[in-house]
Amino acid sequence: MSAIDDLPPLREVIRQHGLRAKKSLGQNFLLDLNLTARIARAAGPPEGVDVVEIGPGPGGLTRALLVAGARRVIAVERDERAIAALEQIAARYPGRLEIVSGDALKFDPRALLGAAPARVVANLPYNIATALLVGWLTLEPWPPWYDRLVLMFQREVAERIVAAPGSKSYGRLSVLAGWRCEARIRFDVAGTAFVPPPRVTSSLVELVPRQNPLPCERRALERVTEAAFGQRRKMLRQSLKSLGPDPTTLLEAAKLEPTSRAEDIPVEGFVALARAFAAR
Ligand code: SAM
Repeated sequence: MSAIDDLPPLREVIRQHGLRAKKSLGQNFLLDLNLTARIARAAGPPEGVDVVEIGPGPGGLTRALLVAGARRVIAVERDERAIAALEQIAARYPGRLEIVSGDALKFDPRALLGAAPARVVANLPYNIATALLVGWLTLEPWPPWYDRLVLMFQREVAERIVAAPGSKSYGRLSVLAGWRCEARIRFDVAGTAFVPPPRVTSSLVELVPRQNPLPCERRALERVTEAAFGQRRKMLRQSLKSLGPDPTTLLEAAKLEPTSRAEDIPVEGFVALARAFAAR
């Protein structure tokens, strides 16, 4: 592990600020500077970009993003013990680190952003990772305020985000992500890279917003995928009965086979179904 700046090593920061990892806050820290630098690189050229980081903790990834040249990092952290550690980083990079002490689930960065492109980069707390992602995927207006999301998830969740029809991981999250973004896994990270190590492997996922997603009402899309995947092994003519008494009319309007199953329907098919449902 080599130094990337003249700030104290992360283990020292954790010791100084009593940052013993709390499970309730999804704290699995990354202390390997080569890995945090790799994540910052995977997030794309950061020059001129405002990065929103969720859960900076002791600041390993934050420092990598600043060293890589991010114009500004807006870092939202719920653990008050970490704020003093982050303030040391802010002092080292004057005007480039904005610390927001609070809950990322309630945070809207738009008031802090200007004309510069903005990006979300985070080693997410896994207990709220899906909720945060769904929030970013369902923003209005669209395209959203970010040009990219580069996020660490448990691999099982990452696989659900990028899954294609026919895969056992394909579900509601895959349809929502595929409707609004192009998503791919950049690389996997072993549990042993984190302190403390989670029991599962993690994956860094990149999501780039589609400028023109297929037009459809987001709530209608959520209703039809909820119904279809709620009984994923049943044929659609059966699973969609929760949407109303006559699912065959909806299926005809969407040009879908009544005997097909949710896991075989591509995003376009669900969009057609959502449009038929919204127009019923
Ligand atoms: N970025 C650091 C790293 O890579 O070492 C820490 C990542 S750790 C997986 C998740 C971080 O999210 C923790 O610092 C935790 O305190 C913070 N966190 C948890 N829930 C949060 C919330 N609701 N809002 C903001 N931060 C949160």
